[in-house]
Amino acid sequence: MKKSRFTKVFVGLTLTLLLSACGNGSTTKSSSEKSTGSSVEATSAASEQEYTDPSELKDEYDIVIVGAGGAGMAAALSAKDQGMNPVILEKMPIAGGNTLKSSGGMNASETKFQKEQGIEDSNQQFFDDTLKGGKGTNDQELLHYLVDNSASAIDWLDSMGITLDNISYSGGASVKRIHRPHDGSAVGTYLVDGLIRNVHEQKIPIFVNADVTKINEKDGQVTGVDVKIDGKEKTISGKAVVVTTGGFGSNKEMIESYRPDLKGYVSTTSEGSTGDGIKMIEKLGGAVVDMDQIQVHPTVVQDTGMLISETVRGEGAILVNQQGERFYNELETRDNVSAAITALPEKYAYLIFDDALANRAKQVDFYKEQGVVVEGKTIEELAGKIDMKPETLKATLEKWNKAVKDQSDSEFKRETAMDYDLTEGPYYAIQIAPGIHHTMGGVKINTDTQVLKEDGSAIKGLYAAGEVTGGIHGQNRIGGNAVADIMVFGRQAGAQSSDFAKESK
Ligand SMILES: Cc1cc2nc3c(=O)[nH]c(=O)nc-3n(C[C@H](O)[C@H](O)[C@H](O)COP(=O)(O)OP(=O)(O)OC[C@H]3O[C@@H](n4cnc5c(N)ncnc54)[C@H](O)[C@@H]3O)c2cc1C
Repeated sequence: MKKSRFTKVFVGLTLTLLLSACGNGSTTKSSSEKSTGSSVEATSAASEQEYTDPSELKDEYDIVIVGAGGAGMAAALSAKDQGMNPVILEKMPIAGGNTLKSSGGMNASETKFQKEQGIEDSNQQFFDDTLKGGKGTNDQELLHYLVDNSASAIDWLDSMGITLDNISYSGGASVKRIHRPHDGSAVGTYLVDGLIRNVHEQKIPIFVNADVTKINEKDGQVTGVDVKIDGKEKTISGKAVVVTTGGFGSNKEMIESYRPDLKGYVSTTSEGSTGDGIKMIEKLGGAVVDMDQIQVHPTVVQDTGMLISETVRGEGAILVNQQGERFYNELETRDNVSAAITALPEKYAYLIFDDALANRAKQVDFYKEQGVVVEGKTIEELAGKIDMKPETLKATLEKWNKAVKDQSDSEFKRETAMDYDLTEGPYYAIQIAPGIHHTMGGVKINTDTQVLKEDGSAIKGLYAAGEVTGGIHGQNRIGGNAVADIMVFGRQAGAQSSDFAKESK
């Protein structure tokens, strides 16, 4: 195989946040324009991404993968493991999508890391927590497949040098289950860096600025895609197509049409989350499920759409209202915590935490850099800076620290993330309110990731995985389950599409 020429792009969290803040309206710049932007150079978490030169795009591959987020790259690596020749087509100038922004981690049960750390968990408990979080409406077959294959996905990642062995709590989980990089940092950049590294090691071609506009079919079988790349339109043939285009959190029209009540909400999602895959699949007669189930995340900085990870609450932060009082169980599911904040007269709240927590949750360094963290040497100083009565905030913290000591939250019945008190100054506050975060609805698939029609039959040769699909999360996604979803089902889509491609050889 001819050695690929690559385009190099420097990527960092700052760029990701800028993309989120831009929303729908911004135009796609070339890779080189983005790589020279000062905001990108200024980022501390910068990493390097390389892409295949557009001149190397062939007319035919075994498997065409649409979208280079976590699900797409997992599918490509798994297809390559099966001896296939896959290609990844990504419409944005960088790979990663929402996966690059994911911050908390990946849920998995019965993992070797949980066992090593003495954490008792079971696939059934993971199933039950998720079903409870989803209000009993999750697609239970998909959910069983997810939990039963979550530990092996953690092992698979580990075998590729992507080690998620730092485990914490996330909202709605009854035990420590969310797996993060060793140093507790954000999962997204680490995961995407690792996946891209493996994609290159496996010599899988990955093209950016490659916008797939149509999935082609003939006689009821998918035959490939149409793609706009480098200003040119091309038709690429594939024995199977895997759609991993992510959700539609950045498509204002789709959000408003399915959920008029969310008009005007800020979104945390990436610019490429525009629902393309859902629209292309619907044109082929694919069914969709739960399209009005759009997750609103409780802790979003409103002027930028920046998500404050659930890790901050998972490590022990509390939420207070403008009076400086707690008002809800911070570790309840996202929909309930969001509703509790929206019910406050001021419609926002403050996350409050101490310096010890800031050292455990490395994301806080980044939030500080972004200027969203208010700091006070003492609780009184912090209260003064956020316009609260110092005596009230102090009393709230004293009460909370006693609850941690007694392991009993008589006020709001919080039962998790009570390992650490908040006693080590300086103290911090971040003002947050709910924002659009995840689209739980999408195309209907079965556990083989085949895309289904309304009548339950599969569209031959068409597979989908990740946020483009619907059903698994039901009415409310548990934090950490989307990364589990993309790894488990992305891997499965690569394997299943490979089996199909081999049969059609
Ligand atoms: C700020 C933030 C933090 C999060 N944190 C967590 C977390 O800690 N844990 C967790 O479980 N979940 C988290 N999530 C959710 C999770 O990150 C996503 O649901 C998941 O990463 C989606 O992965 P994906 O591969 O399905 O899609 P994506 O990662 O979004 O990738 C889809 C890719 O497809 C591309 N694409 C779209 N249309 C086309 C087209 N027509 N042609 C070619 N390419 C196309 C997109 O540009 C994108 O790159 C978070 C989400 C956000 C926004």
